Amino acid sequence: MDTIDFRDRNSDLVAREQDIGDDPIAARDSDLYRGEYVQTFVEKWDELIDWGARAESEGQFFIDMLKARGKTKVLDVACGTGFHSVQLVKAGFDVTSVDGSAAMLAKAFENAKDHHIILRTCHADWRTLNRDIHGKFDAIICLGNSFTHLFQEQDRRRALAEFYAALKHDGVLIIDQRNYDAILDNGYSTKHKFYYCGDRVTAEPEHVDEGLTRFRYAFPDKSEYKLNMFPLRKNYMRRLLSEAGFQRIRTFGDFQETYQEDDPDFFIHIVDKS
Ligand code: SAM
Repeated sequence: MDTIDFRDRNSDLVAREQDIGDDPIAARDSDLYRGEYVQTFVEKWDELIDWGARAESEGQFFIDMLKARGKTKVLDVACGTGFHSVQLVKAGFDVTSVDGSAAMLAKAFENAKDHHIILRTCHADWRTLNRDIHGKFDAIICLGNSFTHLFQEQDRRRALAEFYAALKHDGVLIIDQRNYDAILDNGYSTKHKFYYCGDRVTAEPEHVDEGLTRFRYAFPDKSEYKLNMFPLRKNYMRRLLSEAGFQRIRTFGDFQETYQEDDPDFFIHIVDKS
């Protein structure tokens, strides 16, 4: 497993402007994320997610779930700027942090250093995860509505197969997503309480159809960034997990086990390898 020198080997660190072509609504590809998480957006990400508010709203949920199952060796496959990786290291877990964006990974490393932690990082794409990651893990987390970046079904199946292969025989996968059923069926509303907790940033969809949700993130300094995401329906995601071989799929809504389908902003699936 290589720890990379982010600063000069990765061109997405240099890109400052998002560029997904002339027709953004037509841009529906699993590789888009590389051009979306440009350096300037990554620099702003923590304003969007607000670590303090997020820690408060999530509480110990993920730590409790992992500890209850006796898991210690965790692979954070979408570490972003490092929020969960840092929390888990502080809670005593043995964490490896992966992201396909070198800019995100560099920021995670920097953020962790501010918490006196040297993060074990690996630059990898989920679809070829096991080419870059060695060893098997007790748990994989894929959080913050990350899986939505995969637009092609074959990429989703491939990523889940890679996650499955990277887990020990009794491993657990924790993967979350926005409640896209509510967005597609009823329009967008959010309590803004979970995940994207920064209250000075607005995040809302500017385009929604069955194959695309395009979110706009507007910051107080008037800068704006966009993300194209595939709107995963909850039962479709559960089916994919099941077809990838995962067992005992439990889906929480905003950290609760019982909920009205339309209510939660986010769903969290917790599934076992065997
Ligand atoms: N988990 C972090 C959080 O909650 O703040 C980051 C969430 S961000 C919405 C999604 C992350 O997934 C980005 O850092 C992006 O680079 C990463 N990502 C998207 N597609 C990926 C892929 N195919 N392979 C690896 N990382 C990917």
